[in-house]
Amino acid sequence: MQRKIIGITGGIGSGKTTVSQIITSKGFPVYNSDNRAKEIVNENQDIQQKIIYLLGEKAYENGVYNRSFVANCVFNNNELLQKLNEIIHPAVRQDFLDFVDRQNSQFIFKETAILFELGLDKDCDEVILVTANTEMRIERVMVRDGGTSQEIEQIIAKQMPENEKIQISDYVIYNNQNDFSELEHTVDFILKFILQNNV
Ligand code: ATP
Repeated sequence: MQRKIIGITGGIGSGKTTVSQIITSKGFPVYNSDNRAKEIVNENQDIQQKIIYLLGEKAYENGVYNRSFVANCVFNNNELLQKLNEIIHPAVRQDFLDFVDRQNSQFIFKETAILFELGLDKDCDEVILVTANTEMRIERVMVRDGGTSQEIEQIIAKQMPENEKIQISDYVIYNNQNDFSELEHTVDFILKFILQNNV
C-alpha cells in the first residue's frame, strides 16, 4: 500500500482545525503537529534541556513549558525563533513518522499551521490550504480567543501571504461562509477527489 501524506495548512483563524475535525469525523487519521509540538516540549527531556540551554531556566516553570515566556523571547527575534524551531521540529517530525507507522489507512493527514514556512510541504504528497478573508479570520479569532485585532494582525503579518500559499497548494478551501455544513460539503468534495485519484 502506497501511503499518501496530505498536509492541511492555513493561517491563523482560517479554519484548518475545523477542516481537520471534519476529516477526522470521516474516519481518516489526522495528526495535529501544533498540538503534538505543545505536548512534546513537556514530554521530551532532551528537548527540555536544549530549550533551557537556548532560552534560560525561565523557559520552564516547575517543569512545565512556559509558553508566554518563550513567545516573548522569540516574537521579535527571528534568529532565536529559528533556533527554537530547529530544536522542536525534528522531534515533531519523528513523532509524526511514529504516528504514520501506527496507522493502517492509505491516507494520512497532517495539520501544520506554518507548513510552507517550515518547508514541510516537501514531506507531503499533496497540500490542502484553508483560507479566508483577513477580516473574517480576525473576527473568528477574536470570538474564539479574545485579544485585539491589532494582535491578530501582527501574527498574520508574520505568516506567509495568502496569495503565495494559494499558488503552491494542491487544493484551496475558501472558508468565507459562516456555515459549517457548506465547509463539510467542500471537504467531502476534496476527499472524494483525492480518493478517486489514488486508486
Ligand atoms: P488557528 O491557527 O488560530 O488555530 P485555525 O485555522 O485552526 O486557527 P479554527 O480554529 O478551525 O481555525 O477556526 C477558527 C474559529 O472559526 C473557530 O472558532 C471555528 O469554530 C470558527 N469557524 C471556522 N470555520 C467556520 C465556518 N465555516 N463557519 C463558522 N465558524 C467557523
